[in-house]
Amino acid sequence: MTVPLDARIPTGPLAQKWDKHRFEMKLVNPANKRRNSIIVVGSGLAGGAAAATMAELGYNVKCFCFQDSPRRAHSIAAQGGINAAKNYQNDGDSIYRLFYDTIKGGDFRAREGNVYRLAELSVNIIDQCVAQGVPFAREYGGMLANRSFGGAQVSRTFYARGQTGQQLLLGAYQALERQIGTGGVKMYPRTEMLDLVVIDGKARGIVARNLVTGAVESHAADAVVLATGGYGNVFYLSTNAQGSNATAIWRAYKRGAAFANPCFTQIHPTCIPVSGEHQSKLTLMSESLRNDGRVWVPKKAGDKRDPRQIPEAERDYFLERKYPAFGNLAPRDIASRAAKEVCDEGRGVGESGLGVYLDFADAIKRLGADVIKERYGNLFEMYQRITDENPYEVPMRIYPAVHYTMGGLWVDYNLMSNVEGLHVTGEANFSDHGANRLGASALMQGLADGYFIIPNTIGDYLARSKPAKIDTSHAAFRDAENAVAERTKTFLSIRGKRTVGSFHRELGKIMWDYCGMSRNEAGLKLALEKIPRLREEFWRDVNVPGSGVELNQSLERAGRVADFLELGELMCIDALHRQESCGGHFREESQTPDGEALRDDANFSYVAGWEYAGEGQSPVLNKEPLVFENVKLSQRSYK
Ligand SMILES: Cc1cc2nc3c(=O)[nH]c(=O)nc-3n(C[C@H](O)[C@H](O)[C@H](O)COP(=O)(O)OP(=O)(O)OC[C@H]3O[C@@H](n4cnc5c(N)ncnc54)[C@H](O)[C@@H]3O)c2cc1C
Repeated sequence: MTVPLDARIPTGPLAQKWDKHRFEMKLVNPANKRRNSIIVVGSGLAGGAAAATMAELGYNVKCFCFQDSPRRAHSIAAQGGINAAKNYQNDGDSIYRLFYDTIKGGDFRAREGNVYRLAELSVNIIDQCVAQGVPFAREYGGMLANRSFGGAQVSRTFYARGQTGQQLLLGAYQALERQIGTGGVKMYPRTEMLDLVVIDGKARGIVARNLVTGAVESHAADAVVLATGGYGNVFYLSTNAQGSNATAIWRAYKRGAAFANPCFTQIHPTCIPVSGEHQSKLTLMSESLRNDGRVWVPKKAGDKRDPRQIPEAERDYFLERKYPAFGNLAPRDIASRAAKEVCDEGRGVGESGLGVYLDFADAIKRLGADVIKERYGNLFEMYQRITDENPYEVPMRIYPAVHYTMGGLWVDYNLMSNVEGLHVTGEANFSDHGANRLGASALMQGLADGYFIIPNTIGDYLARSKPAKIDTSHAAFRDAENAVAERTKTFLSIRGKRTVGSFHRELGKIMWDYCGMSRNEAGLKLALEKIPRLREEFWRDVNVPGSGVELNQSLERAGRVADFLELGELMCIDALHRQESCGGHFREESQTPDGEALRDDANFSYVAGWEYAGEGQSPVLNKEPLVFENVKLSQRSYK
């Protein structure tokens, strides 16, 4: 092992670890905080919350995002809600239950200590956001309302209609703006981090490109936080925003940060099906819809009747049939595979046959269209605009699509990577979700990281490591700037025949076909032949028009796709090496007799932390064993 993956989980009882750890942390004196500078790359929920909170504490923060405003971070797209163990419904919820549901939901591939802390902090998040004025839905009597999400039998999801991410982001954004106003945060919008600068083994800054002028600039700091979101767009078609990318974490990987469980991808069961080759984006239909919508397909293969003409007896409500205890709220990985299975049997609906119904007829009969409209109105409207079908009258058609990446940069309990001073939060880290994230838990994790964890742990790092004063005149910044300039020059000089988008689309298809909803050895090996060939062609034949000293979106995309072409390969290597199924990682060779994911705890109960070994070299696998002291590992069952 060359990269030590020490999780640094505090000792002691599970429920006391975080409190004890905070007590044992070194503190930075309030007057000294302003002498410490911190770079935060990303201003979504994880980055925006972190930047605002650390500036509030007194640190000097520089915050970067590639959009024109922090308000446009991809977090704004989150629809359904955010989990918290408040037990307002008095339905048996508790911090321990949220902890257990998350560990089980992740198919026992996450750390107990981290997940318990996440469940513990979930309750603080709601208080913080309510205090900021986030307009969560309320019951008639004024209490905050809840709904259910997959993988849980309690109602613990707080929401603001189908716009929870937007409302939470407005809260974080206001806090960030306040700090921009006081001078605590200097904001750099439309600026893309293109390299990490590591000096004497410590992260000391970044090199970034001003996307409007093309100027390449260095920024030094005492610590760096990456909160740059997920990398689902490696698949080209996903529910992620078009701009979401892996560049920041990929460059950090190449500077020595371990990449953990890269193949752990979440395929969300309820997205609007692909309608044709022209498409560059898929649209999520929130999991919250499964509170009232029933998922079904015709019992008979090839039944193309209008769904309203198909009698009850000829319908297969396959989730309710297979998973009676959780029904339509089976977790995402399981619901996605079940949908694929019925489509593979020829029972899929819609023109392509790659779709299943999400039907609200019963709910509308029971509750009335007005109640359904109140709960999901904006989602119904979005569906109708995209498909030109009215979901109040005909069932929605849905199909699984790439949605979230559980993998990401490896971090310890303090959210620090193996590169000292490099911290990673939100979807960009490999996080607390194991091999499958439960719905409404990403917002919870991003905000726990940003508001509550990193503001504490970064102080401990700064107090202990006392970083030497360094500025951008250091040679390491010049080297990184030169490397960035050289890469830009190369992109612009190829002048080949293929667009960046065509390479991205082809890579996405390889990833979906061989490293998507199900994977097998032969397919992954084939992908590992195809991806390097495609990458070689990219560097020979890509066409990037324009120049490097102006707004040039082809150039931006070229850099991101070049990184995806490398990351895709690492994902396939990881998926090939993990010869077990767990959560969203379904290896066809490893399944139970009834087709569920079959783990191999004896051989794979670890976090796979991949280490960059240099150009053309195979990455090195480092393992962090997972230790379970509080929960008993079992075959996941939602029946
Ligand atoms: C359609 C949709 C609906 C969802 N609904 C829910 C939900 O209901 N509940 C839930 O819990 N989760 C949901 N999720 C998941 C959740 O929204 C995300 O996981 C979460 O918002 C990610 O937040 P983040 O702060 O980590 O990253 P993001 O919000 O993606 O922010 C990334 C930030 O990093 C910046 N950035 C990235 N790269 C660079 C770079 N190289 N240089 C400079 N800046 C950079 C971006 O500009 C941006 O500011 C949903 C996801 C999708 C796609």
